[in-house]
Amino acid sequence: MSAAAVGEAGARAAQPLHVRGRVLVGPEDVRDELWVVGGRVTYSRPPGAAEAVAVDGWVLPGLVDAHCHVGLDGHGAVDAATAEKQALTDREAGALLLRDAGSPSDTRWIDDRDDLPRIIRAGRHIARTRRYIRNYAYEIEPGDLAAYVRQEARRGDGWVKLVGDWIDRETGDLSACWPRWALDEAMAAAHAEGARVTAHCFAEESLVDLVEAGIDCVEHATGLTEETLPLFAERGVAIVPTLVNIATFPDIALGAEGKFPDYARHMRELHRRRYATVAAAHEAGIQVFTGTDAGGSLAHGLVADEVAELVVAGLPPLAALAAASWSAREWLGRPGLTEGAPADLVVYREDPRADVRVLADPRAVVLRGAVLGGSVAGGSAAGGSAVG
Ligand SMILES: [Zn+2]
Repeated sequence: MSAAAVGEAGARAAQPLHVRGRVLVGPEDVRDELWVVGGRVTYSRPPGAAEAVAVDGWVLPGLVDAHCHVGLDGHGAVDAATAEKQALTDREAGALLLRDAGSPSDTRWIDDRDDLPRIIRAGRHIARTRRYIRNYAYEIEPGDLAAYVRQEARRGDGWVKLVGDWIDRETGDLSACWPRWALDEAMAAAHAEGARVTAHCFAEESLVDLVEAGIDCVEHATGLTEETLPLFAERGVAIVPTLVNIATFPDIALGAEGKFPDYARHMRELHRRRYATVAAAHEAGIQVFTGTDAGGSLAHGLVADEVAELVVAGLPPLAALAAASWSAREWLGRPGLTEGAPADLVVYREDPRADVRVLADPRAVVLRGAVLGGSVAGGSAAGGSAVG
């Protein structure tokens, strides 16, 4: 079968797919092959195996971008065509499971599209009045927090997103957005609905109250210190650093310098120690996951860059891979490459354990069993790797 024919045939989920090479089922569980039949993973040779389309390489479960915004850009909600483009860009990058960390758009229609990544939503951001980016959040006062949390817990897919700190224009620096009593009520409300809570936090100040109130995750978490690191580890609070977003802090500081010099200095300091903070979190036993913060000011499709950044920060390559695959899926309650699981996987030309930068160029992206991306789907499989 020619490479072009493979592309055509591979796009049909009905035909069995034979993925050969090194299947990274888990960090310690590596197999020689898997089959995709009826959109699902199996390790038993299926009937019709002789007709199967083959793809060779190193295989990971579909990557996880655990902090991503679909249906959002720098100005607020976007139309469905733009949201679709965002989701397709993530798919091309191999990010097949997205935790949407807050969006004012209703993107529920994406769930009916077999060709788009799976989304776990956190509803719409909940922020303090005039303490977040315009047009993004419900902007409310502490007395209403629990009610909004309950509402968004019911709208989302098991997560609620708070803005935990933001610049306070009166003091001219970052400060916590919510009093402790309101956070206590908010966490109780979310947990009663079966939802977990995460919060955007840049600075140090808000972290103790959030953890003591029972938060499940913190986004960015640049303000972690020797005081709060052990607290996060002890309570099992995960972090999603979004290092590709933290890289923009110097620009934010530059723009704010004239009016808010203390804030600018603070942002630069958080940026300066970002790698040390992430490395210390990992060493303290805190779960660190991959997130790009795409959809605000950042482009979609940056999951490979974020994994590379985690390695630069000091995570061992296997831990950085786990943060974007095996561990992240487990944390979000979604299967990896287990028998019978939906076949959402990515195939690479080289071993991503040896160099995570391999993630930037997938050979094949398989979603719900269909080859939808990478050079195989494009009909240009290099080196004759795909054969019928
Ligand atoms: Zn975000």
